[in-house]
Amino acid sequence: MLEIVLKGHESYYALADVVRLFFPSPAEDRENGKVFCAGAPDFLIESELLPSGRSVCRVNGKEYYFAGPAEEASREVKRSLYMALTDLTGIRPPWGCLTGIRPTLVALQTDSAEDLSERYLVRPDKAALALKTGREEVRILEKISPQDINIYIGIPFCPSRCEYCSFVSSDISFHMGRLKEYKEHLIKEIRLLSPGIKRRISSLYVGGGTPTVFDDDDFRDLIDAVYENLAVDKDCEVTVEAGRPDTITENKLKAMASHGIKRICINPQTMNDETLAKLNRRHTSADTVRAIEEARQTGFSVINADMIAGLKYETAKDFIDTAEKMIALGLENITVHTLYKKRRAAMSLADVMTDDPAGEVDKAVSAVYGMLEDAGYRPYYMYKQKDTGHGLENTGFEKGGTACLYNVAMMTDARDVLSFGAGGMSKRVFEQVDTAKYRVERCSSSKDVLDYMMRTEEIARKKADFFGL
Ligand code: SF4
Repeated sequence: MLEIVLKGHESYYALADVVRLFFPSPAEDRENGKVFCAGAPDFLIESELLPSGRSVCRVNGKEYYFAGPAEEASREVKRSLYMALTDLTGIRPPWGCLTGIRPTLVALQTDSAEDLSERYLVRPDKAALALKTGREEVRILEKISPQDINIYIGIPFCPSRCEYCSFVSSDISFHMGRLKEYKEHLIKEIRLLSPGIKRRISSLYVGGGTPTVFDDDDFRDLIDAVYENLAVDKDCEVTVEAGRPDTITENKLKAMASHGIKRICINPQTMNDETLAKLNRRHTSADTVRAIEEARQTGFSVINADMIAGLKYETAKDFIDTAEKMIALGLENITVHTLYKKRRAAMSLADVMTDDPAGEVDKAVSAVYGMLEDAGYRPYYMYKQKDTGHGLENTGFEKGGTACLYNVAMMTDARDVLSFGAGGMSKRVFEQVDTAKYRVERCSSSKDVLDYMMRTEEIARKKADFFGL
């Protein structure tokens, strides 16, 4: 078991975050002043914050400390622990001791890839990517007025549950009879809140789950209700995350096109049919190609596709092959995700992830980034998740100035978002003039579909109060 004894500080959380880069499920023992990790090899580490503000980690008679400029206490202790664990394990997580979900924010604060790399021990290619992407985020945010609002409409249902899924979505086999009812409650919530929305809507995103899981009529009802009740003007960016290609029909595409919707996400995750079957996704790569062709014929001009690195059943070659096929399809947006899980997911991280002692996934992700940039794509938003497999990030790429404003508004936590439906998180953002950072207040809906339907009016009232509608 790995044990870290804290001395002169109480940065339990920061230490656990660094341990998580190397080993799963670290825990805190505040009574005995320790962070420990039962599944890790036997190491006893002392993490001390010295009166000088510098931190040192001691293990096996060696001391690890950083000689460059000092950082705040929690960063100091993270940095020295990262150095110790890197030396002890031979593993070098690419983002160094940066454990937050927004590496672009830290990159913008340092404003130098070299500085980011040096101060946070971030690998130089990741530091350069973070800075480039962060600058793109800033440029895109300028297109979204802080006075405007951004809207999310959540459909937490899918036709089947992907093996790796960690979202709150429900396999419709559990709630098949409730899908229509959910739609009605969603429309009810939209009707309750829409009269109070006096702000311009910059972007509207219908996400999931799989919003196209509805049958043709219910899907049209929902899209019609959105346009009847919300002031979506011609400059508002509207995106529908169709998700599973097998749920996309001509009628659903026409329902969207009839309102002028031009942006759609068709997400195969992989173009390898064997993997798709093993993941319980119940569609093929041919379904993806068909759905993309139909969307093009219906007039969709911006198509996004998501792909995932590190799936258990795939080699690096399979992942690169998926990227090649997606690029060949001429998609405007490609989002590269790295597999991650939360505790909700049915399988353990080890069950779902590939064994990757040689860092093949990391190399494949870098190779795909290079392929995308060579094909004219630019990274425009990025985030990390705590349990991300292989210590990697998620990055959205676009070409031809087709970046999704909603994604940037949402992921940067820099613009207000009003969410409708179960599981959505609404947020209000307050700019802090003195620090140039944002303070975010959040208002959650119910994650449980049945609870959401029972309390739709109460939940709507809570959001109305939150936004002052
Ligand atoms: S499509 Fe997405 S939300 Fe739905 S089950 Fe798969 S991973 Fe989960």
